[in-house]
Amino acid sequence: MDKLTKILAAALVLLLLITIAFPSSLVSAATGTTFTKTTYKTTDLLNLRSSNSVSSNRLTTIPNNTSLTSSYRLGDWYKVTYNGKTGYVIGQYLTKVVTGTSFTKTTYQTTDALSLRQAASTSSTRLLTIPTKTTLTSSFRNGDWYQVTYNKKTGFVSGSYLKKVTTASSTAYTTTERLNLRSAPTTSGALLMTIPTNQVVQSLSISSNWHKVTYGGKTGYVMGTYLKKGTASPASTPAGKADYSGAKMFVLTDSGSTVALRSAASVLSGQIARVGRGTPVIVTNSLHKTRGFVAVQTADGRRGYIEATYLTLFQPSPSNRPLIVIDPGHGGHDPGAVRSGLAERDIVLSVARQVASLLEGKVDLTLTRYTNDYYPTLGDRSAMSNAHSTSRFVSIHVNASTALSASGAESFYYKGSTSVQLAQAIQQRLTSYAGMRNRNIHFANYAVIRGTQAPAVLAELGFLSNSTDRAKLASPTYQARYAQAIADGILATL
Ligand SMILES: [Zn+2]
Repeated sequence: MDKLTKILAAALVLLLLITIAFPSSLVSAATGTTFTKTTYKTTDLLNLRSSNSVSSNRLTTIPNNTSLTSSYRLGDWYKVTYNGKTGYVIGQYLTKVVTGTSFTKTTYQTTDALSLRQAASTSSTRLLTIPTKTTLTSSFRNGDWYQVTYNKKTGFVSGSYLKKVTTASSTAYTTTERLNLRSAPTTSGALLMTIPTNQVVQSLSISSNWHKVTYGGKTGYVMGTYLKKGTASPASTPAGKADYSGAKMFVLTDSGSTVALRSAASVLSGQIARVGRGTPVIVTNSLHKTRGFVAVQTADGRRGYIEATYLTLFQPSPSNRPLIVIDPGHGGHDPGAVRSGLAERDIVLSVARQVASLLEGKVDLTLTRYTNDYYPTLGDRSAMSNAHSTSRFVSIHVNASTALSASGAESFYYKGSTSVQLAQAIQQRLTSYAGMRNRNIHFANYAVIRGTQAPAVLAELGFLSNSTDRAKLASPTYQARYAQAIADGILATL
């Protein structure tokens, strides 16, 4: 034997020895794992091969997004059957399909030691055991099996051994002034947002007059000085429930009697004038309402304070004019659709204000909000209309879509033939006055029109995501046309 033959022979002997000494180590390379039958989806075009190697025969190609089941794998290769052909696909392009229901994230405690399983079944592989009294969260379940993560492993546990945990108690407070929400319990903490007056916040903890609170999905710190325990509004009139800065309101007293316009927000302060029932005033600042007063300006320019309980949004009788509520959508922490620096919140308020001035003297009208930094809830908006014998309710919105070509105006109604007529009257005019593409009127189960008793319409003026519509929505000329369309549409159906 020459030198090379000797080396080869030695290697052959060595290989034979290894095979005898460690037979399982060589066999295991070809042994796969059997597991509970699992459904997968392909995430790409995928080759089905005759064995667990890219060099093996390609049997066919499986399209993307195909459902496959497997219960056997060899390394990262999964045995699957597709179109009558059985072979192997690489696991990298498979994603597990989990069937079940999503729900609001809930905290649970285990009532016993229990198995975390790979799938929602007692026959599925047990990943580990979770000790009793462990806190877990879940937001997905399949029947009575809850998906949880424990020790970095995600799987399913049986709901029979889970007890719902009520989260740490928080106390409701109401803001008595506009209040800064900060990132830290100090005035130098970063400003997260300004919370409007009369908003309910949940206080989680208190430390030296700083409350840790959640509001509008944000958690931060506010000074306790401007919080009042509970959720009750300071006064029962609309003026007591919201920030009506900028609103036109009316003095509501018994016929023939008057109330004081005072120099300060106190019954002890001097009287500037006495004002009678039905006197219109402009609210210059409703922040004083926590002391029971609202700052106002009269038509002849006198500024002073009136007790909030003597103010109302609608002109009191003997006005027989129809009552109209215009609802500029969104507001405050909720800007609505935003594109190119333009916010739906601001556009719809501008249009709503113009509707109000166009209808001045023809109807009694109020807006659900008069400022851009106040957000009335959808319930507040309907409740405001429902508290009066309102004739028409129009909620103004602006659309947006990821499809940049989507454009035009559309109007929605929920119930009643008058709502349908109102939707038609407004829709027709949005199209003709402002040249909007006509997307027609539609039924829609939107909370704000569903919750309102009066004939109600939600009008979408146009798409902020479409450049042609956006130019109109931003233009004062077109805003005036939208307002005219809504005002005329309302008048046409009264
Ligand atoms: Zn909107």
